[in-house]
Amino acid sequence: MIDTHCHLEQKDYDGKRDALIAKCIASGLKAVVTCCARPQDFALTMDIAGKHPNFVFPVAGIHPEFIKEVTPEETETFLEIIKRNRDRIVGIGETGLDYNWIKETEWRKKQKELFIRMIRFAKRLKKPLVIHARNSPGAEGMDAYEDSINILEQEGAKCVQLHMFGASQLVQKVIDNDWHVSLNAIVLRSKKHKKIARDMPSDRLMLETDAPWLAPEGWESKTNDPRAIITVAEKIAKIRKTAFEELWQQCGRNAKEFFVLPVKI
Ligand SMILES: [Zn+2]
Repeated sequence: MIDTHCHLEQKDYDGKRDALIAKCIASGLKAVVTCCARPQDFALTMDIAGKHPNFVFPVAGIHPEFIKEVTPEETETFLEIIKRNRDRIVGIGETGLDYNWIKETEWRKKQKELFIRMIRFAKRLKKPLVIHARNSPGAEGMDAYEDSINILEQEGAKCVQLHMFGASQLVQKVIDNDWHVSLNAIVLRSKKHKKIARDMPSDRLMLETDAPWLAPEGWESKTNDPRAIITVAEKIAKIRKTAFEELWQQCGRNAKEFFVLPVKI
């Protein structure tokens, strides 16, 4: 099993990171993809990956929620750094549109420009893209999912992971484009995500935790970690009426192929 989306550089893990990674390995995980979402997290992310070769694999990008914090100059510098480290990273992201944290039209426009920049960057580096899209609750007429899909289509993006994708009405578009969806413990409570877990073809589905966030109910602490992937897999197997082992293997294979990970499933 592979956790295809978490954030191991977060402060929550300070002082216990290596012990946690050892526990992840002991619990049967084969790999963890950790997502560096802004320039200042890059050094630590690469350090964690360096300490745990062939188990922790980094993805790097600028999360759309940080659009106001990272200047265009810092963005360019960061992309240069990512480029220099291209052989050590397995994907670009997370990138996309976040209408929950960013409300102003001008900043949403800047998010779109950055998103396009990242899509083209990933294409040039021949790396898969990790997409974050989030809506503002109750907002009419603005749909981060729809806008993200339109931009990805416009740009002809091929190798795409829609992380925590929640727009069940758009699932056919995702399938038609041959993109992947990864789901986390939100499937335990969200109807829309449950529908996606049910409707995605088995070879397009991956599992994630988004740890340290989104701990499943009853988890041993408030801080989630990649071992919760087992709970996510159990729930999705139930939703799809598939044997746990079959889903576990299939999602692992999908992740290995998608990120081109040198691991045994
Ligand atoms: Zn994330």
